[in-house]
Amino acid sequence: MAKKSRQEIVLKGIPAAPGIAMGPAFLLDRQDFIVPERLILDEEAPIEIARFEEAVIHTKSEIEDIRAKIATEVGSTDAQIFDAHLLVLEDCMLIEEVIRRIKTEKKSAEYIFSEVLKRYIEIFENIQDEYIKERSSDVADIGRRVLKHLMGESRTHDFENLAVDLVIIAHDISPSDAVSMYNKKIMGFLTDIGGRTAHTAIIAKSLGVPAVVGLKDATLRISNQDFVIVDGRKGVVIVNPTDETRSLYSKEKVRLAEVDGANLNLKDSPAETPDGRRVNLMANFELYSELTGIKKYAAEGIGLYRTEFFYMNRLDLPSEEEQYQAYRKIAEEMKPNPVIIRTLDLGGDKFLSSLQLPKEMMPFLGSRAIRLCLEEQEIFKTQLRAILRASAHGNVGMMYPMIAGPGELRAANGILKGVKQRLRDKGVSFNENMPVGVMIEVPAAAMTADLLAKEVSFFSIGTNDLIQYTLAVDRANEKMAQFYEPGHPAVLRLIRRTISAAHDAGIKVSVCGEMASDPTLAVILLGLGVDSFSMSPASIFSIKRAMRSVRYQDAQEMARHALRLSTGQEVDEFMNAELKRLVPDFYAYGSQI
Ligand code: PEP
Ligand code: MG
Repeated sequence: MAKKSRQEIVLKGIPAAPGIAMGPAFLLDRQDFIVPERLILDEEAPIEIARFEEAVIHTKSEIEDIRAKIATEVGSTDAQIFDAHLLVLEDCMLIEEVIRRIKTEKKSAEYIFSEVLKRYIEIFENIQDEYIKERSSDVADIGRRVLKHLMGESRTHDFENLAVDLVIIAHDISPSDAVSMYNKKIMGFLTDIGGRTAHTAIIAKSLGVPAVVGLKDATLRISNQDFVIVDGRKGVVIVNPTDETRSLYSKEKVRLAEVDGANLNLKDSPAETPDGRRVNLMANFELYSELTGIKKYAAEGIGLYRTEFFYMNRLDLPSEEEQYQAYRKIAEEMKPNPVIIRTLDLGGDKFLSSLQLPKEMMPFLGSRAIRLCLEEQEIFKTQLRAILRASAHGNVGMMYPMIAGPGELRAANGILKGVKQRLRDKGVSFNENMPVGVMIEVPAAAMTADLLAKEVSFFSIGTNDLIQYTLAVDRANEKMAQFYEPGHPAVLRLIRRTISAAHDAGIKVSVCGEMASDPTLAVILLGLGVDSFSMSPASIFSIKRAMRSVRYQDAQEMARHALRLSTGQEVDEFMNAELKRLVPDFYAYGSQI
């Protein structure tokens, strides 16, 4: 990309993980393309060609959108830099060469395209004219976008060789890429696409890495080595800040550290409202590194163990023994507090390189989570054996993700029963009474909560998916962010229905989606009768503070009123006003999102 501006610019995206990071930018996508060679059959060539053409069309419209946006927001001269991008996409020689080589070499569209692209980049780089030389990065940029459309999630980044602390900028970062950032020199990250509750954002929170997603064109507006400030609370990014802005943010960073320090006083206080309603605050767990935070913030257990992350970034599937050891270790560390292990939730935006599954048009509505486990029963049984064996060593519970009704629950429980019997036959010890629950994250599950409640030990409401599926809003799509409304009446009614069904059946309800970590929304959940909340460990104190500052009676009244409102925005406005009235310093401490 040719744009080299040293002026301070402010970009607005979606807040994904809290905190402030300041440092030099590193455009991840400016690395070489790593595209595995894949042979195709004769009859697959037309499909590959069609995929390639479609990817070019998508990329073109993406660039045209950005061009139009920059033209209105910045000016038509700046927008002209995208003409070069569009020219690459309209280059008949390039397009024809790719199509011809797919037919003759019988290799995948992405592989052939990446080969042709590399040659083009080389040609540009070897031209003496500095201006033309710079165009090579435009070609590379376009290439990455086309590859993104062709390869989707399966492309992975390489963080191994980072030598200095950097803020990563990428068009997209997959959840498995985010996991591999652990312990690397990454201070924060920014992406063009993605939503607040996408798994990439969730992992950023787990890693404690400030992140802003959905910035639309950050990769085009930030250059390598630009200095950037990432404000993960507000979703704001400042590129090449003035000295004044830098100093403001340095002070804000110190203030946030002080707030966190002050919050540590809450460690030994219970999550109890002034009028005596006690709830449990637990942690969501994805990576072993989170155990430090779980202890530091005194989580009262693990309310959601996202086991799929254990399967990621490796070439094989984890064995029963490996899983058993991992689950057992956490169960022992947390004892006597509970550890709720969620069975594999793959699909949607989470994929494994070890499990090549057919591509789906709509992966969030496809073979995801429990459906995949019911199809791939050997993988499921291996995990069930490991969980059951770990249950002998601590307070282990288990839950199934994405259950849509009693049919799937019974199918899963049928397999569980068989696995238990075989363990018994072999004399392997496990907890015969291990609690088994379901996640309520599909509207159909909420609507059948009365039926499900009779057959399980507990519910855990996954609001990230419940909102996505109820409102038909892709949780990972930044363009849909305005429609992703936790306070939407349909969402609140489904939650209320779920809680009533659970309590009528005498079982408890937890909320483990991101809604549980938002202080305002947590007050509504409290008022609706939720028994426990599970969230990223760093959010625990701000939720504890919220619980300790609002009377249960008031929370119930607020929830009742919220349920009578018509839109999520009305709910936000009502809650903000009401909380400020009842608890004047309610919003004074929030360092988290
Ligand atoms: C949810 O959907 O709210 C949830 C907790 O599960 P995940 O975010 O892993 O889909
Ligand atoms: Mg979910």
